[in-house]
Amino acid sequence: MLDGVLQEIRARHRFVVTSHARPDGDGIGSALACGQMLRLMGKEAVVVLHDGVPRIYQNLPFAELAIRANEVPANDAVILLECDSTRRTLLNGLDECFLINIDHHLSGRAFADINWIDSTVMATAELVYKLIRRACVPVDHDIATCLYTALMTDTGSFMFAGTNEHTFTVARELVLAGADPAQCARPIYFGHSTAKMRLLGAALSNLHHEGSLSWISVTQDEIKKFQAREEDCEGLVNYALSIFDVQVAIFFRELPDKRFRVSLRSKGEINVSKIAEDFGGGGHKCASGCAIDGPLDRAVSMIIDRLRAESIL
Ligand code: 5GP
Repeated sequence: MLDGVLQEIRARHRFVVTSHARPDGDGIGSALACGQMLRLMGKEAVVVLHDGVPRIYQNLPFAELAIRANEVPANDAVILLECDSTRRTLLNGLDECFLINIDHHLSGRAFADINWIDSTVMATAELVYKLIRRACVPVDHDIATCLYTALMTDTGSFMFAGTNEHTFTVARELVLAGADPAQCARPIYFGHSTAKMRLLGAALSNLHHEGSLSWISVTQDEIKKFQAREEDCEGLVNYALSIFDVQVAIFFRELPDKRFRVSLRSKGEINVSKIAEDFGGGGHKCASGCAIDGPLDRAVSMIIDRLRAESIL
């Protein structure tokens, strides 16, 4: 499939590269590296993201070239990274485009004209890295920095289940190509806003712990009170997962429309992508998400009851 993707790229000139709404490190790093690969191949390429580049990723190379938009600009093809549907991008105008889908999610779907889905790798960045190498584009310091950041974030700093010697081989090659691990880590793990830390305090003061399950939540009132941004919620769930006997942690975030965004994390024994899929979402065995109707009590009991059915409590 890698060769099929490359063949379609070689046959075209003007590209849009995108990822899902509320992009994470893998979505951003992979898209920025892929855009640069295309430019180095002599193509026109623009990275278009519905929500733009979150603050902690704004220092990545090529981040200043990414465009925040609701609509795809004119193109010969769109490369979608990390998406299981065109809907996940929240971009309009994709239906008329030639679509190339590159994804590593277990819940990935073959919705595009050409689909390369490989759930054996830890990050879409690994697939983009393979593509860049196969295209004979040199992996320079900037591309390596984008891809290393993507790999580091999607493996939870190389701690999530599934991280193996192959992951470290790719990481090693990216470091040899110029990625600096400490510099990549700093804005992400030591670059939080004060608002995020205050929001974390509110979430943890509301921590529930039942058997091998824990959950936290934040409301729109709290988000407003601390002047937090949507991106300040990223990673809060990991604090609930860090409790010694917890197997699955859940983070509920109230959306402006009163629905709840749900982030599920597992230490590896429970496959949380199955749970998210039951509620119309998806993701990986150890990290998945979905959106469900409020109010909070209802959202919590829907998810907790579903987890009880997995008899993990
Ligand atoms: P997060 O909890 O950080 O929002 O998402 C964790 C993982 O689940 C990410 O890989 C993300 O792409 C995936 N994910 C989150 N929400 C959804 C959703 O609504 N649909 C699908 N298909 N995947 C999701």
